[in-house]
Amino acid sequence: VPGAVRDMLLGRIRDVADYPVPGVMFKDITPLLADPEAFTVLTDSLAAICSRRGATKVVGLEARGFILAAPVAVRAGLGFIPVRKAGKLPGATLAQSYELEYGTAEMEVHAEDLTSEDRVVIVDDVLATGGTAEAALQLVRRAGAQVAGIAVLMELGFLGGRDKLKPTLRDAPLDAL
Ligand code: AMP
Repeated sequence: VPGAVRDMLLGRIRDVADYPVPGVMFKDITPLLADPEAFTVLTDSLAAICSRRGATKVVGLEARGFILAAPVAVRAGLGFIPVRKAGKLPGATLAQSYELEYGTAEMEVHAEDLTSEDRVVIVDDVLATGGTAEAALQLVRRAGAQVAGIAVLMELGFLGGRDKLKPTLRDAPLDAL
């Protein structure tokens, strides 16, 4: 995105030190969401990425990914598919477990929501270590769809998520606004 847009978005992300645990600088996007102009610019920018990547569906990751991916899907004229924490989707699901700092977590998607015809852009707010995005990539591919890209508001480059994702991404681009 252009520098002025980048600065406008960055200016509406609040750094919260030591949240949720000591040592983490939490990127709080709620000031951005509360500003209709900034939220619109963010939505339009992510929707443009989905169009550029030839997406047929937008996958959002629970929970903050939902807040961004849903308006992006509407803006881009695409369907929205939720990837949820385990146990929340009522239909037949595919599940993918992944490592957290302490222990493991599991995410799920409705198996029938994605087909081999689909090219998916995965949307989330922050890419940190890349573990969440990696699990989502695997889940989308296991559902038979192609990953057209990952699009996030913000990438915490110093955590090396992009490098960690490289083998899993293959040819899929990772766009961070
Ligand atoms: P990771 O799997 O380490 O890439 O973490 C990414 C997921 O955790 C995303 O869904 C983010 O919403 C959340 N997350 C991780 N670190 C932060 C942070 N410093 N600030 C805000 N959200 C974060």
